[in-house]
Amino acid sequence: MPWPRNTPPQRDGDASAGIEVTDEFEPFAQRNDIFTRAFWDDRVRSKQTDAFFASYRMEATPRRGDGFAQRDFALRNAAWLVSDILSNRNADRGLREGFQAPIQPDTPVAPQTVPVDDPARMAGEIKRVARFFGADLCGITDYDDRWIYAARVDTRDMSDAPHDLPTGLTSVIVLGHEMDQELVATYPSALAGAATGREYSHEAAIVMQLAAYIRNLGYEAVASMNDTALVIPYAVKAGLGEYARNQMVITPEFGPRLRFSKIFTNLPLAHDAPRPQGVRAFCDICTRCADACPVKALPFGPPSTDTANVSAIRGVRKWTSDAEKCFSFWAKLASDCAICMRVCPFNRDFSRWQDRLWLKLALGRLRRLALWLARDHGKRRKPGDWWHRAGG
Ligand code: SF4
Ligand code: SF4
Repeated sequence: MPWPRNTPPQRDGDASAGIEVTDEFEPFAQRNDIFTRAFWDDRVRSKQTDAFFASYRMEATPRRGDGFAQRDFALRNAAWLVSDILSNRNADRGLREGFQAPIQPDTPVAPQTVPVDDPARMAGEIKRVARFFGADLCGITDYDDRWIYAARVDTRDMSDAPHDLPTGLTSVIVLGHEMDQELVATYPSALAGAATGREYSHEAAIVMQLAAYIRNLGYEAVASMNDTALVIPYAVKAGLGEYARNQMVITPEFGPRLRFSKIFTNLPLAHDAPRPQGVRAFCDICTRCADACPVKALPFGPPSTDTANVSAIRGVRKWTSDAEKCFSFWAKLASDCAICMRVCPFNRDFSRWQDRLWLKLALGRLRRLALWLARDHGKRRKPGDWWHRAGG
């Protein structure tokens, strides 16, 4: 059966998603992302960035204070383990799966294709299966090739390499994975990095299993984590949340406290619509994340097309961080930082009625009151207290 051609990007959906692409737009080359530059660009690479990566192997682990002791790095690195096994399994082929290359399929596409008469019903089934495998959120949007990286990276020499995606892809399934709230409250710390690592390990399994299910139905499915494309525009267009000043997608379910993975597929699926609810208007009056950033890597003004360096996509009007400044702080910590996630007033537990009430205020005309009510929100909790509670 011939697959349908790629659907043209539904650019008329950009406005409702809050995405503004200008004439200067250029697809982003993954070689320029800050993590990849740390391997080839002397402007980014340093002894400190090398030590940052070494700390994920329990080498050169600093031991300086609460949250950065050996047990904190031990937990963080254990949390990353499954993701690490996946990303290293094809290193000799230059494929760092899940980060600089899509996850290679372990399941062939079944020769028999299940007919799909009702794409809306199939979308509902996919969301159910995604939940079954452990995804916390699932939305579906069109395959829009503007957000596909201009090239992937061959990690043997950090050169540009082709994606080798199948032709005829029509949809992107975006999955959200909630990060642990108690650990996020301890950023910055190596302990908090366990919240990141655990979700990468979880999402690796979830995205591979969902892709295997689709392939077993007889359709193409490419499982992807940080590789192949920018996930944020897909998450926004799939209606999962709104783009915010802290560079994250803020969702009504978990605020900014989650990670995303994705699957590119030709399974016939109905697409979700963007759901702007008022986050943009809230960010317009709030600068908590930018204020709290220790290296002032986040912007204070309105969205713009300004880019501080090559690690930002060109030609998209949005809030854009200075990734060099941000990563320099990560390197200094020898761990990831998400202070800008921790302090965000939307970082809450929305299973609590008080937090749901706050959300209602924040997304409506009383947003200034909501901002004031959140004046003491997001204070750092001591990592030692987390261990203390773990010890009973
Ligand atoms: S992750 Fe940390 S350093 Fe980077 S922008 Fe957020 S607060 Fe700043
Ligand atoms: S801290 Fe404030 S400005 Fe920053 S993302 Fe959250 S709501 Fe938006």
